[in-house]
Amino acid sequence: MTNNFQFYRRIVRTILVILGVTLPFIKINGDHLLIFNIYTFEFHIFGLSLQINQFLPLLALFLFLTFLFLYLTVTFGRIWCGWLCPQSVSMELTSFMQNLNKGSLPIKTFKILFLYLLSVLIAANILLYFIPYEIFFDRLFGNEFSKGILTALLTLGTLLFLNFWLVRYRFCATVCPYSMLQSMLFDKHTLAVWMIPERRAECINCLSCVKVCSTEIDIRQGQNSACINCAKCIDACAKVMGKLGKKSLFAYRFGEGNKKRFTRFSSAVSLVLTLVSFFIFILVALSTKNVQVEVIPYQKFLPRNIDDFAANGYVLVVENGDNKDKTIAIEIEDLSGYEITPNSIFKVKPKSKNDFTFFIKLKKDLLENSPILNLKLKIVNKEDNAIQIKTISFRRPITSRRSKK
Ligand code: SF4
Ligand code: SF4
Repeated sequence: MTNNFQFYRRIVRTILVILGVTLPFIKINGDHLLIFNIYTFEFHIFGLSLQINQFLPLLALFLFLTFLFLYLTVTFGRIWCGWLCPQSVSMELTSFMQNLNKGSLPIKTFKILFLYLLSVLIAANILLYFIPYEIFFDRLFGNEFSKGILTALLTLGTLLFLNFWLVRYRFCATVCPYSMLQSMLFDKHTLAVWMIPERRAECINCLSCVKVCSTEIDIRQGQNSACINCAKCIDACAKVMGKLGKKSLFAYRFGEGNKKRFTRFSSAVSLVLTLVSFFIFILVALSTKNVQVEVIPYQKFLPRNIDDFAANGYVLVVENGDNKDKTIAIEIEDLSGYEITPNSIFKVKPKSKNDFTFFIKLKKDLLENSPILNLKLKIVNKEDNAIQIKTISFRRPITSRRSKK
């Protein structure tokens, strides 16, 4: 491996840009690979569709991401910032803005206009993680033009433009909340860029490391919370020292003594928690039903007698979060001589929620000893062969004295 970290950062950056641009367009079985659809409030994650009200899988996902963040930060410090963060990736993509003052007026104007166009394209890419691309393009260029989407695009594009032009790496060094949290999680064995202590005296004070620094710090003075681990100083010093037949005076080190303590308490515990929460998320997500059903009493229909039967009304609420039609069949478990009218089979379209009213008729004599019967309603999702059992109450009709006579 060459010591030219900027070469590897460029490769990582290229992969991230390709992934970032293409992911919102990729689908698995008709479902987006990775977006949060603001129209349906659904997360689409690697073929799984999680509705915002599916509390458990979302909680498990949140815990997994939190523990992963803890583990990476405790062990590898700000490696996320320097190598993977969209902010630092964008800064490198727009590095042509760094020497803006040096150019002539036409070049300056061209750079600024180009930056604005690039910012709007990046804003569109971000919005595609929240608005499915079919809707996004249709509402911008199709028949159903949406002022809201255009406003969001231009507002976000303008904010990004100002960030790329005026704020740049100052954001990482000052206001980024992740960087503040990271500073608290560091310990003496966390990975960071260090000036190798035993070689300090070899510095020829050329200031190359200071000039290239992303966050404009002098890391020779000691560790600084503004350092984002971009390794530009390592490479800059390697060039200078290389001419003297020496290696860079900077390096990635696990603490000043460079002792790799991956099994230390904070690192090991956060890794175990990350792995456990990941498996819990997968288990919970796979066992999450895409079809949610509820059965509630039909308030407009009071229990009543019809010939030799007692009848109760119910509403079956079916929410189909899947991309395919679903057929739902209902029956009562461990009971015979009953009737379900008008239907006991219901069709639900993809991504829709329907209410179905149905009535259960039981022989009157079943209610002789008890005013309420608890029935087990078996709800079968035919396509997935999934069965849910719901307990429902069947009430004895209140009969008037006249009808008793
Ligand atoms: S000190 Fe080095 S690693 Fe840290 S931000 Fe500056 S150039 Fe990057
Ligand atoms: S680039 Fe290396 S030699 Fe030059 S000032 Fe920085 S540490 Fe010293």
